[in-house]
Amino acid sequence: MVAQEFTVDLDKPLVFQVGHLGEAYQEWVHQPIVSVEGPRFFESDFWESLTRTEWYAIPIIWLPVVCWFILKSVRMGLTLPQIVVMVVLGIFIWTLLEYTLHRFLFHIKTKSYWANTIHYLLHGCHHKHPMDGLRLVFPPAATAVLLVPFWNLVKLISTPSTTPALFGGGLLGYVMYDCTHYYLHHGQPTSNAARSLKKYHLNHHFRIQNKGFGITSAVWDRVFGTLPQTKAAEKAR
Ligand SMILES: [Zn+2]
Ligand SMILES: [Zn+2]
Repeated sequence: MVAQEFTVDLDKPLVFQVGHLGEAYQEWVHQPIVSVEGPRFFESDFWESLTRTEWYAIPIIWLPVVCWFILKSVRMGLTLPQIVVMVVLGIFIWTLLEYTLHRFLFHIKTKSYWANTIHYLLHGCHHKHPMDGLRLVFPPAATAVLLVPFWNLVKLISTPSTTPALFGGGLLGYVMYDCTHYYLHHGQPTSNAARSLKKYHLNHHFRIQNKGFGITSAVWDRVFGTLPQTKAAEKAR
């Protein structure tokens, strides 16, 4: 059956439309609309409000939670050097998690109605509207849900007293990542390192989608290797 060509009406809420694009969704979602004004996602004001997050909500909400978990490990007897090691390890685990999720899940090729819809909510919206400042950081309500499996994952690889500090470190890594990601899109970096990070990330959006999966991807791309298409794309540049 040949699906009728579907056109997304950008003046109407987008989330329940994009699934109808079917196989054309992938091409559509990777043609960015570079406007700071974001589209409406849902008809419902309640769901719509959950999709809009100011960047500063991330440190305001999550840094106290980070502190609470770290202090929990302190109360359980961990020394300061042990805390530092656990927090750094947590940040490290976060960078690996962020890279693997971004590379192997967020860029999965979808074509069915619900797969397209979920992909759009998860990551597609950021590629379609990369400068939408209110849809850039992860909504706190969704983060709160995802913290449950993350807690269980951390619990698997640590002891009862190190689990909270490791988890707090991972959450701190997330906060650092989300704020940096926002800054790369909306800030004007002056240092060379920040400028090259910005260029690397914007390449992921606008030129080489098979590379640059996340803020620390310059490191992890070396470990995992870049995809064949990337090399071809790089040659073509
Ligand atoms: Zn981005
Ligand atoms: Zn991406």
